[in-house]
Amino acid sequence: MEVLTLSAHELYERFRRKDLSPVEVAEVYLKRIEEVEGRVGAYLTVDPEGALRQAREAEQRWRKGDGAPLTGVPLAIKDNICTKGLRTTCASRILYNFVPPYDATVIKRLKEQGAVILGKTNMDEFAMGSSTENSSFQLTKNPWGVERTPGGSSGGSAAAVAARECVAALGSDTGGSIRQPAAFCGVVGMKPTYGRVSRYGLVAFASSLDQIGPITRDVEDCALLLEAISGHDPCDSTSAPMPKEDFRACLGEGIEGLRLGVPQEFFIEGMDPEVEASIWEAIRVLEGLGARVEEISLPHTDYAVATYYIICTAEASSNLARYDGVKYGLREGEGDLREMYLETRSRGFGPEVKRRIMLGTYVLSAGYYDAYYRKASQVRTLIREDFDGTFDRCEVIVTPTSPTPAFGLGEKVHDPLQMYLSDIFTISVNLAGVPALSIPCGFSGDGLPIGLQLIGKPFDEATLLRVAHAFQQETDYHLRSPENLTQGGP
Ligand code: GLN
Repeated sequence: MEVLTLSAHELYERFRRKDLSPVEVAEVYLKRIEEVEGRVGAYLTVDPEGALRQAREAEQRWRKGDGAPLTGVPLAIKDNICTKGLRTTCASRILYNFVPPYDATVIKRLKEQGAVILGKTNMDEFAMGSSTENSSFQLTKNPWGVERTPGGSSGGSAAAVAARECVAALGSDTGGSIRQPAAFCGVVGMKPTYGRVSRYGLVAFASSLDQIGPITRDVEDCALLLEAISGHDPCDSTSAPMPKEDFRACLGEGIEGLRLGVPQEFFIEGMDPEVEASIWEAIRVLEGLGARVEEISLPHTDYAVATYYIICTAEASSNLARYDGVKYGLREGEGDLREMYLETRSRGFGPEVKRRIMLGTYVLSAGYYDAYYRKASQVRTLIREDFDGTFDRCEVIVTPTSPTPAFGLGEKVHDPLQMYLSDIFTISVNLAGVPALSIPCGFSGDGLPIGLQLIGKPFDEATLLRVAHAFQQETDYHLRSPENLTQGGP
């Protein structure tokens, strides 16, 4: 099973030397999916024919000596990213039969490189949730403990990477949906700066917060994938006109003299003591590598969750108005137009999505707009200014990704407020628009992974990757993987 242990950059070397062929590798992954999906449930759609076709094309490219870094690398894609001809459901009944007529820009870029798309991964419906339990179709289990959630909303993508059902994956992050599942599943996940990656073809949840990003086994692969998907796109007016960057170039440069900020507000009561201990241990490792640690303050952190749940619900209520049974997906109701709208939306959306549409419509309604939406937008500015204010004192901010390791399936799903609080450390990053990544930094006594969050200056993903890489060189957390998924375990 050696093939399954290779990361994307290692596969590249094998393909280049012709030690391995993309078809062989795709076949190994399709078999692996067959063997472990019953226990993990990461995929909503697996596309063996499409994957093998892309693998054969990749093989041709390598034969002609025309391989790119991702040519022939098998990937999984979150099911809210449009893939031409391949069902894209957002894990919602309302899009159960939606087959996009076009590729998202990120998919187009991956296909240009010759990547192999194995399938589409489970998620919380429309990316609303932190455990993937809000999927209308199935549960995904954490490969490190199948009675635990994989986190969410990109839980399928993170679980697929951890369970070696793909080499790497794409997720989307509106308030933590790449980083928190990456932390829960013991893999690397990055939310790029807002505007770094095109959102064209990402089904919108909260447009001012959403960003697509990589979920990978190691930092090199994270850099590789970010390089492939980033860059200006005229199809997305919020995509930034930044030049393409070589994110791998600075890996290995070391972090001597780099200033790390540790925000006092992030070390709160109620944080799991094992998480806290691992984070401090990680900070000591970084200090040992020559970084200087400073205590900093992000004083508006306390308001982040409340602000987020006003802004994201407001944007969601407007974005999700398009699902009315007319243009795509589910259509229900026998009577007039109003009844069709009513029936389609009543039966198509799950309870969390309905809750958010109602909250969002309320905060935008006449008479409440100023009290809620306008106020939240103002607090958002304060949160952004908190970050701006610290970046003259440090290059990177270090925090836990999540206050606890993976929680149990069913543990929080009936208590939305508890669920919302599990993103307490990730949400302010989206409000501020800055980049952040989560990297494995330890294990709990129960053997569950713990994630370290690194937050950077706008468009300074390179420094985040450099710090994460230095940390990875000193530790072996990223090399461990869950055992026994094919038999009785883990
Ligand atoms: N868990 C948060 C929410 O439910 C964040 C989700 C996300 O990043 N897509 O909104």
